[in-house]
Amino acid sequence: MNFQDILTEQRELFNSQKTKSLKFRKIYLEKLKEVIIKNEDLLYKAIYEDFGKSKFDTFTTEISFVIKDIDYYLKNLNSLAKPKKVRTNIANQLGSSKIHPEPLGCTLVIGAWNYPYQLSLSPVVAALAAGNTCILKPSEVAENSMKAMAKIINENFPKEYLYVAEGGVEEITEILKLKFDKIFFTGSPKVGQIVYEAAAKHLTPVTLELGGKSPAIVTSSANFEIAAKRIVWGKFLNAGQTCVAPDYILVDENVKDSFLDSLKSYIQKFNYQPDSEHYTRIINERNYNRLVKLIDPDKIFFGGKTDSFTRYIEPTILNNVTWNDAVMQEEIFGPILPVLTFKNFNEALLQIEKGEKPLSAYLFSDSSEEKEHFISKISFGGGCINDVVMHLSNDYLPFGGVGNSGIGNYHGKFGFEAFSHQKAILDRATWGEPDLKYPPYTDKKLNWIKKLL
Ligand code: NAD
Repeated sequence: MNFQDILTEQRELFNSQKTKSLKFRKIYLEKLKEVIIKNEDLLYKAIYEDFGKSKFDTFTTEISFVIKDIDYYLKNLNSLAKPKKVRTNIANQLGSSKIHPEPLGCTLVIGAWNYPYQLSLSPVVAALAAGNTCILKPSEVAENSMKAMAKIINENFPKEYLYVAEGGVEEITEILKLKFDKIFFTGSPKVGQIVYEAAAKHLTPVTLELGGKSPAIVTSSANFEIAAKRIVWGKFLNAGQTCVAPDYILVDENVKDSFLDSLKSYIQKFNYQPDSEHYTRIINERNYNRLVKLIDPDKIFFGGKTDSFTRYIEPTILNNVTWNDAVMQEEIFGPILPVLTFKNFNEALLQIEKGEKPLSAYLFSDSSEEKEHFISKISFGGGCINDVVMHLSNDYLPFGGVGNSGIGNYHGKFGFEAFSHQKAILDRATWGEPDLKYPPYTDKKLNWIKKLL
């Protein structure tokens, strides 16, 4: 398939003004919902073949997310797309001012493999809701999921409106040479740089949803039972292959031992054994081998069992970890949880400040002072107090990184804005205008202007 031809067709459709109609957008959002629901079994099967992700996890963390997004835009599209009246300053009286959200045009969405449906289709839904056309390039690493999305979308949508491009690095490199009006990328900071560079050639705006090492801080005032339960769930969901999973724990040294015991008891309770139908496998051999190397046998507090045939890695807690250990030099993106300690809270914050800005950060504490310092002293994309991961499920919050963890954000109205231009229009009355701004300039006019401004 020639990508330039598809983009040319998409541009023609966009220029025809059809995609701007709210009715058109709603018809296709409904259609996408219908296509996903009709093909749910195909989607479950494909993702299970890719990395053993269960139906339960696929529904709760992927399909339901996309359907929820579609429903959100169907419900809120009229108000999101409506011009917003703002105040008009004195120099522009008599006049009225409005912000008109306008679709950017032809957009490209590049997805990651770890939540292949959610991370590909949620940005697509936002792009279509905002009135754009879209080419989606899902990650080839989750190959079956990519093929399933290509099948259900390309068979049901006109390619001049929405098209799924299959392929790997070679294909995406070709696609990135083309001129889009917006590129929305989810993936690693390393590939994010490549995408940003390609976009810069055409001055194409980007949203980059990247990753990093997201810390979870546990202080002595925390409710350990809740902290352990929520951290274990968020870390080992999708076998740790979650961009916002807590990458490592920083715990007050005085309470470390009892906290480690709580973590262990929840891992045992949640049953992540090889026979569990709900525990996801590692996506491929390359990542499996990378992760196994990060497990230092001398530091295993719990877990450590691996099986290369099924790419199973048991939830593994590493104790007595230092900042120099291999596991602390890269984003783990797997079911290995290093535990480090701190003597005082500010020291923990300083350590986090030394690294790249994380995508997420989590604090478990009952102290309002600690909560305030956590929010104001360190920079990170977003996070939770006394929970992990869940902030991204609240559509009223923007989701995105900062610095090395990303540029821009989405979800809910923020997704709509990510794919829109805010066009500013000042509408002037043609009567009642003073002569002040027009030449010839005089001291008297200047005095009046000084008074007014
Ligand atoms: P990746 O960067 O390897 O791949 C992402 C996408 O980029 C894929 O579609 C891939 O085909 C494409 N790609 C790969 N090489 C390319 C190249 N040379 N040129 C152009 N495109 C290329 O990332 P991944 O392994 O799929 O995902 C893991 C990373 O993504 C982690 O860092 C994780 O934290 C991050 N992530 C972030 C979010 C978020 O929402 N912020 C979500 C999921 C994953």
